[in-house]
Amino acid sequence: MKGTIARRTLAALPLLLLAACASVPPAQRNPLADWRPSPNHNARKAAMIVIHHTEMESAAAALLTLQTRNSGGPVSAHYLIGDDGRLYQLVADDARAWHAGASRWGGLSDLNSVSIGIELDNDGNEPFSQAQIDSLLRLLEDLTARLDIPRHLVVGHGDIAPTRKRDPSALFPWQRLAEAGFGLWPRSPLAPAPPGFDPWAALRLIGYDLADPAAALRAFHRHYRGDESEQWLPGDHDLLYDLQRQLMALPAAPLPAPAG
Ligand SMILES: [Zn+2]
Repeated sequence: MKGTIARRTLAALPLLLLAACASVPPAQRNPLADWRPSPNHNARKAAMIVIHHTEMESAAAALLTLQTRNSGGPVSAHYLIGDDGRLYQLVADDARAWHAGASRWGGLSDLNSVSIGIELDNDGNEPFSQAQIDSLLRLLEDLTARLDIPRHLVVGHGDIAPTRKRDPSALFPWQRLAEAGFGLWPRSPLAPAPPGFDPWAALRLIGYDLADPAAALRAFHRHYRGDESEQWLPGDHDLLYDLQRQLMALPAAPLPAPAG
């Protein structure tokens, strides 16, 4: 009896393999290789989150653009949050929205393929409303938990495209996000950077592209100091030394609670 079952199972095996083959469209198989399907896989997912401001007059206008195009061509984002806190989704989490454009972070390019894009309804010159940030924090909590995105990998469009983009503006409350456990933020009090500390190496470790050093510094200052200076500022070395130490400690322990 056992032998019969075993024989039947073996006899069915080619059919099962055929069924597995049939479930993958031939277009997704590389003709250079023999197809030997394995069931041990799942969909790829985003690994980081990019925050934008729309630089438009209303959420309704931004929704229309994100469903069609802007002057440069078709654009989108996964989410849009109105200044009243209302949350809209335009693209599924597992699809590649067109929000980042030419960009680089930590040596990765094509950030659209690895990130979730969140647009905030904001004209670029006004403060971000309490309701909007509350809604953003709820969304970040959901995305980082559900998609298992590391909580420190929340960055701005200006961080990943420093020569082209300045969003979200210097008014964006990165410290408030850090107090809720998102993004990377300096601890207080800062320890002094040791002699010989290399601030450019620290900037690169955080993720900044240094192809245009002045643009990278402007982006760093916008994010961490609410200022768009393209020169080093007093205190920068100590701040970067702290961020570097937090990043180097990440595999062993979660980020310490930020304290300002
Ligand atoms: Zn943007």
